[in-house]
Amino acid sequence: MPSPIDMHVHVVGNGSGGTGCWLRVRGWHRPLAALMLRSVGLPTDALTGDLDRLYVERLLEFMRGSSLGAAVILAQDVVRDEQGRELENVGSFYVPNDYVLKLAREHPEFLPAVSIHPARPDALEELERCLAGGAVMMKCLPNCQNINCADRRFTKFWERMAEAKLPLLAHTGGEHTLPVVRSDFADPRVLTLPLECGVTVIAAHSGTKSGLLDPEYFHVFAEMTTRFPNLYGDNSAFNVPFRGRHVRKCLVEPLRDRIVHGSDFPVPVHGHWAWMRGFIDWETFRRWERHPNILERDYQLKRAMGFAEETFTKIRGLLRMPEPVPASGSSSRSDF
Ligand SMILES: [Zn+2]
Repeated sequence: MPSPIDMHVHVVGNGSGGTGCWLRVRGWHRPLAALMLRSVGLPTDALTGDLDRLYVERLLEFMRGSSLGAAVILAQDVVRDEQGRELENVGSFYVPNDYVLKLAREHPEFLPAVSIHPARPDALEELERCLAGGAVMMKCLPNCQNINCADRRFTKFWERMAEAKLPLLAHTGGEHTLPVVRSDFADPRVLTLPLECGVTVIAAHSGTKSGLLDPEYFHVFAEMTTRFPNLYGDNSAFNVPFRGRHVRKCLVEPLRDRIVHGSDFPVPVHGHWAWMRGFIDWETFRRWERHPNILERDYQLKRAMGFAEETFTKIRGLLRMPEPVPASGSSSRSDF
């Protein structure tokens, strides 16, 4: 069996390492950011310190100590208006495409997913540049980045992605760790145009809700998979309170074949909800809840919940893979 891949891993930085990243954490997002840093074992003052280096070092350490063969690391474009102009002071973090492309060149553990707002005047040029640079996927958050994927002006952009076999990972469902600009774009139905253009689309979080009061789009996502053979969903952040509610439906046909594994690192991973819902037993919960490596913890909890081996490897067939992925992770290979 090929080694598993975590296809939803965020890169975060404050630019301290000359990476071009920035981070603006305000108001109630502050404690959330601190919580995320703590969950990956970094001190809160890393936010204003040498975050770029510390973050990548920690991520590499987790990767090397895990069963995973590779992680898809995500860039993050800025929030833009309909004309593609940057909306100043709206977004909370930025990760340049060049940075994830560079990290992936330097570390075989990483596969680069770029982020391009299709309204950018240079969107097609940037897409070509990223394809040439080895991009394996494109990531966007329609509700946070203000991207109306259904806008007919973007048809050419989606068609080029389809032609290049570059899949789209698009956030669906509510979002509470980043500011939301257009909550209606959390609906998976906004992804219909790229799907019709032939793009392989992965609905991040499979449309599940994040907060108690969010609308639930899981059933919309599930229905769409019956009409679009090129639509998939990821199980990222299923180890937070609400998103994991639909695990059972994701484990059986017909959805089983459409779910891929992602952690949403550095989002905290806790097994309590899976245990309370009866998806894992007490012993499994105790064993992995204490595990300090949250990439491994998330992977093992998902396996224990009953996600099939293919859930962790299927992404290999969906990514644009210019080069082969390293054959193995490390230590815990004996687990499977
Ligand atoms: Zn995410």
